[in-house]
Amino acid sequence: MLNESLKTVVADRILPCVQTPAQYVGGEWNAVVKDHRGLRGTLCLAFPDAYSIGMSCHAVQVLYDLMNRREGWACERAFAPMEDMERLLRENGLPLWSLETFTPLACFDVLGFTLQYDLCYSNVLTMLDLGGMPLLAEDRTMDHPLVVAGGPGTANPEPMSRFIDLFVLGDGEQSLPEVCELWVELKSRMRATAGLRMGATAGLPSSASLGNATNTAGQTGSGTQDIEQSGSGTRDIGQASSGVQPEREAILAEMAARLPYVYVPRFYRPEYGADGRATVPRPIRGELPALITPAVVEDLAEFPPPAAPVVPFVECVQDRIAVEIMRGCPGGCRFCQSTTLKRPLRFRSIDSIVQSAVEQYRNTGYNEISLLSLSSSDYPDFDVLVRRLHEIFRPLHVGVSLPSLRINEQLRVVGEVLNTDRHSGLTLAPEAARDDMRRRIGKPITNEDLYAGCRRAFENGFSRVKLYFMCGLPGESESDLEGIIEMAETISQLGKEVRGRLADVTAAVSNFVPKPQTPFQWHAMQRRDYFRWAHDFLFQRKKMRSVRLQCHKIEASLLEGAICRGDRRMGEAIELAWRGGARFDAWSEKIQPELWWRAIAESDIDVEKILHLPYPGDAALPWDHIGIRQGRAYLERACRAADQLAADN
Ligand code: SF4
Repeated sequence: MLNESLKTVVADRILPCVQTPAQYVGGEWNAVVKDHRGLRGTLCLAFPDAYSIGMSCHAVQVLYDLMNRREGWACERAFAPMEDMERLLRENGLPLWSLETFTPLACFDVLGFTLQYDLCYSNVLTMLDLGGMPLLAEDRTMDHPLVVAGGPGTANPEPMSRFIDLFVLGDGEQSLPEVCELWVELKSRMRATAGLRMGATAGLPSSASLGNATNTAGQTGSGTQDIEQSGSGTRDIGQASSGVQPEREAILAEMAARLPYVYVPRFYRPEYGADGRATVPRPIRGELPALITPAVVEDLAEFPPPAAPVVPFVECVQDRIAVEIMRGCPGGCRFCQSTTLKRPLRFRSIDSIVQSAVEQYRNTGYNEISLLSLSSSDYPDFDVLVRRLHEIFRPLHVGVSLPSLRINEQLRVVGEVLNTDRHSGLTLAPEAARDDMRRRIGKPITNEDLYAGCRRAFENGFSRVKLYFMCGLPGESESDLEGIIEMAETISQLGKEVRGRLADVTAAVSNFVPKPQTPFQWHAMQRRDYFRWAHDFLFQRKKMRSVRLQCHKIEASLLEGAICRGDRRMGEAIELAWRGGARFDAWSEKIQPELWWRAIAESDIDVEKILHLPYPGDAALPWDHIGIRQGRAYLERACRAADQLAADN
């Protein structure tokens, strides 16, 4: 049910003054709007970036569909407001709302963040604050929603641990509903036994200001005037403490004990070595595990893909049908966090994929289908799947795009299945330009295969190639950097041999970050000076105008490294940076690195120790309490294997 009073104020006062107002009003095709009255619980999925990015996140669509199909639950969405909207919300004392019912975030039972990348963390704070939530988990009472977070950010949850009540590790399909159900069950049991003074409906904060500003769950708001009277801004909303912190603590403790994939930071004490570096946090309650294990959906068929995803009104990063065909990757690239976080390897059946694509096509009208996976080449009967999709969708003029094919496979099928998309060029990720470096990083392809494949691509009509590389990899030498330019220029030249004119080649070079939960996690990240030198070196070596070189911003990479490898102390820096104005840090035009470095320094964090000093192989790491399917022993073996290859060279 709609919070009409808030919607009216927003429509009258706010929307005419912001860019792309359609991103804030919901009402999209296939959006689900439920009356909150009589429901068991409400969940708001909060994506800490702009609507156009969040709506392209497959996990949001999957969890939204899953929770809305669940009887007794309403699942809604919220995204980070752009700066113009944030300013107006603060000026007008309005809360951030969910798109479906204009419900302030503080009025939900559960607020679920997806942490897809490290540079979105400041936006989490914006959403909490504007949503009417205390920033710090320890300041929340039973009147506030449970704040959970999942996604790749859980690989090292410590930097965000002061803001999040509970992290959910692994696959969300099974774990999120269990977490939501248990929270409302324990909360109502607690309320019944302890006689807590709660709102008439689950999750409704009891503060007077909130009651006036919202219309959730049958509580009738008294309109614009009341919203204005909340006066001191959105922070009033939901922040009235009823002093029930111990009850919240007790429920969180029970959840942590009952759900093996749940990490509640307040029950783990951070520990530090004699050198000041953080080691692994330890549980402070005997019943809690030292190692938290991720949730795994063993059979994907239990959770069919969404049949009717929400279709945005505004242009998004991905405007197409997305069907997950498999989860996990058998690859062992030693820099790759996805392969360790997404294990084991699981497949959807061809029939279920085709059925999902057909249903989504009927329910959305999109004219492109994207098959999602980390490594589509490893899908059994991949050719059969693609042929079946083409049989159905070619006559409808619906294209099928196949991202994440292994290079060899991509090049093998270049003339067959990729022929719908020649104009956008061929995208390959060799990551390193020399075979020996590629063996070290665990990417088993050769330059010979690559060149042969590009030749075939040019013969099949392609004229553009984009290549992704990394610089700063462990053991990198000048010849590895030289190789990047050499490979890009050789491929451009191949285009001339085959097609009579130089091919346009883009070499996109990112700066290697040794991510937690990867075999390279013990390695150091290169320093600023090295990256500056390496980028200059690459630009000096490049001779051909047909080759374009794009080097990723050094400061953004360093910051990403510092945050993702940070320990619990990083939370203070995140808050300081946010208070200083950090917003949308993943956007290259918005990130303010100097502001971040100042916040990190003021928090007494030694970036040198976090980022630029390697760890000994037997060191306990600040994220070692977070388990992965293969175990730490696998990472150690893979790291040693890479180091051995480097030593043998
Ligand atoms: S193939 Fe891709 S997803 Fe798989 S391990 Fe390598 S980089 Fe990761």
